[in-house]
Amino acid sequence: MDTNPHLHAFGSIDMDHRHSNARGVFAPAGRLRDSHGRAITDLRISVTDRCNYKCVYCRTGNEGAQFTELPIEDYLRMIRVFVSLGIEKLRLTGGEPLLRSGLVEMVKELAQLRTSYTEDGVELFPGDPEAKPLDIALTTNGHLLDGLAAPLKAAGLNRVTVSMDAVDPETFTRITRVPRSFDHVLAGIRAARDVGLGPVKVNCVLRGFNDSQIEEFAEFSRRENVIVRFIEWMSLEEDRSWKRETVVTLEEIVERLNAVRPLVDLSPKALSGTARRFTFDDGLGEIGIIAPVSHPFCGHCSRVRLTSDGKIRTCLFSQSDHDLYGRLRRGGSDEDLQAYIRRVMWRKEARHHIGEPDFQKPSRNMVRIGG
Ligand code: SAM
Repeated sequence: MDTNPHLHAFGSIDMDHRHSNARGVFAPAGRLRDSHGRAITDLRISVTDRCNYKCVYCRTGNEGAQFTELPIEDYLRMIRVFVSLGIEKLRLTGGEPLLRSGLVEMVKELAQLRTSYTEDGVELFPGDPEAKPLDIALTTNGHLLDGLAAPLKAAGLNRVTVSMDAVDPETFTRITRVPRSFDHVLAGIRAARDVGLGPVKVNCVLRGFNDSQIEEFAEFSRRENVIVRFIEWMSLEEDRSWKRETVVTLEEIVERLNAVRPLVDLSPKALSGTARRFTFDDGLGEIGIIAPVSHPFCGHCSRVRLTSDGKIRTCLFSQSDHDLYGRLRRGGSDEDLQAYIRRVMWRKEARHHIGEPDFQKPSRNMVRIGG
């Protein structure tokens, strides 16, 4: 038997260290996981719900930020508690995260963190040589990235994903509702690639106004040496205009890309990866297709989200969120926060129900969750 008190084998539920609440929900000790057997290893943190774009498929354009931003130190404390439970990947998002003051310093702090569990779920002790730096990524609209790519890289950021929904400037401005936005974003993508924040991923949500750009995006990936990922539009918009029929499906995208040049399948990066990956027959360019509506991947979901106001969301489509920050503010210890996170995550939804007759819109839209 293992005599090191810091070691817990993943998979064996430690009955003496279960955490329960007044409603009798039990969650096992060891690496963070849910009751469906999924290890929770990816944390997405929204650091503001302000955004400098008003993308037509995301925002009405009339609503501003709703939440007070928390002190960076408080996000860091909550993140450290998550990391102590087995989080290995961090993604900073928003709103628009590059609007948030103190972001570079926050990344510097995050770069000091080390993993708490081995890949097969054995707990590591503080200072353990097997502990690794976390994978730190950022999702941004790229408008301010040109000036921030180098400082973010120097602070310890590993990768960026830039959201860009058209490759021609006029269409792009019609989507973002910000003049000359395309030039800023293109400069941001190039700066990120040049300082080594790669492979740079460019995410494009297809929705009516930009479906004609699929072929141009393929050329963009090949020319700019970035990974282009098409994402099915989800029911997370402010104006409640989503309809199943408007979603451009994986099958249609594949058919149109194949007409550009024959596609070649690439193997998935990880089981919990969201994208089907392709290159072309000459090996130039990479395309990902993320199809949460037509091909859901909930069975391998390893994600949890922390909103800019400090609430845990167990699924993008959750009907409620869980007030971690409230517990911190009321003086909760790290152990209290750990126990709360375990209980909340144990009850993570098995899957979403987008497009099904019983589907209920989630309690928040994308800009206030953090995609
Ligand atoms: N401002 C940053 C950005 O533009 O990437 C981060 C936040 S934004 C909400 C994150 C991502 O969500 C963007 O790639 C955006 O295109 C995507 N998004 C917004 N609404 C969406 C929806 N209804 N369905 C799918 N993706 C959506």
